[in-house]
Amino acid sequence: MQILVTGGAGYIGSHMVVSLLEGGHQVAVLDNYANSSADILKQVEEITGKKCPAYEADVTDAGQLDALMAEIRPDSVFHFAGRKSVAESVERPDFYHQQNVVGTQNLLSAMAKCGCNQIIFSSSATVYGAPEKLPLTETHRVSPFNPYGVSKLAAENAITRWTDAAPERRAVLLRYFNPVGAHISGKIGENPKGRPNNLFPFIVQVAAGLRAELEIYGDDYETPDGTGVRDYIHITDLVEGHIAALAYAQNHKGSEIFNLGTGKGYSVCDVVHAFEAATGIKVPYQIKDRRAGDIATCYADAAKAESQLGWVAKLGLEQMCRDGWRWQENQSGDAQK
Ligand code: NAD
Ligand code: UDP
Repeated sequence: MQILVTGGAGYIGSHMVVSLLEGGHQVAVLDNYANSSADILKQVEEITGKKCPAYEADVTDAGQLDALMAEIRPDSVFHFAGRKSVAESVERPDFYHQQNVVGTQNLLSAMAKCGCNQIIFSSSATVYGAPEKLPLTETHRVSPFNPYGVSKLAAENAITRWTDAAPERRAVLLRYFNPVGAHISGKIGENPKGRPNNLFPFIVQVAAGLRAELEIYGDDYETPDGTGVRDYIHITDLVEGHIAALAYAQNHKGSEIFNLGTGKGYSVCDVVHAFEAATGIKVPYQIKDRRAGDIATCYADAAKAESQLGWVAKLGLEQMCRDGWRWQENQSGDAQK
């Protein structure tokens, strides 16, 4: 199958490209490298022994996108391109709308023009907002409370309108929980530009000596140890969820939503301790105030993905820590400082 991966040089996109190439697909990458580097595609080539064309392009540029889609003519699109920082979205809500919503609308329009009827979309558990009931099922009400979440929900809705408009169109909307870890080869992983916003890359950078200590945002939540609880999912499992979604989309018209999570919640302290146990490296930390907009606990009900996609997450927290650390060890520390 000819597949376009938008945001294919990014954290999740690059792992997806590896898996698709290994599965024998023809893959083209589209990325503006706003949060990544074209160099990552050399690593992808090293892992797979295969090259794929990469186009430097921006999904917010409708004309450029139309021209590229007409050239690539994909059978299916994986849409990862977008911005993902909650804090930045609060400062620049219009920018997030432009990147995540208008970018998606442009893509859908370009797909319609070149006769591509299938999209797999990266959504987020952020669309649920504060959970009313746990674990979170796909039917839980959606109520995002930051502009990033609002943009993800608006993009989901744009995709659903797109499939509703023509019977042959197919979309799978995947709501990720907390993807972490790295490819088993240690050649690709999460490499955020600047100070990491997320817990896992921060821990990894503290362990590598790139940051002095972890700041734990609050130990007074109503959780077993007072720190926030999340559903961490290994990037390899997440990618396998997309492969299952691709097979599903081939046989199902319209739009369908699936959670991709493990169904297990771990606190910040659990993650720190698991990382220390897996790597033998101490992670110094300090307890700080709660981070604005954080919730106490969030984890998935992943039963729908199991029953309809035939997918379950298999890898545990220890493996997430080991693989994430292996990737960090392969990086040049100086390059990141
Ligand atoms: P990432 O920033 O590593 O990857 C996104 C890629 O898209 C980057 O390579 C970036 O350069 C590219 N990009 C950004 N804006 C673009 C634009 N306008 N045109 C073309 N390319 C553009 O992020 P990621 O962690 O790989 O996330 C991928 C997707 O998954 C995002 O849409 C994100 O919202 C979603 N998601 C991520 C997480 C997570 O924790 N990583 C959780 C839920 C959802
Ligand atoms: N967190 C933390 N220190 C950090 C980053 C995150 O204590 O430097 C906590 C955060 O408050 C939350 C958990 O780690 O309880 C996961 O945060 P992350 O930003 O990775 O994911 P999200 O909050 O988006 O689910």
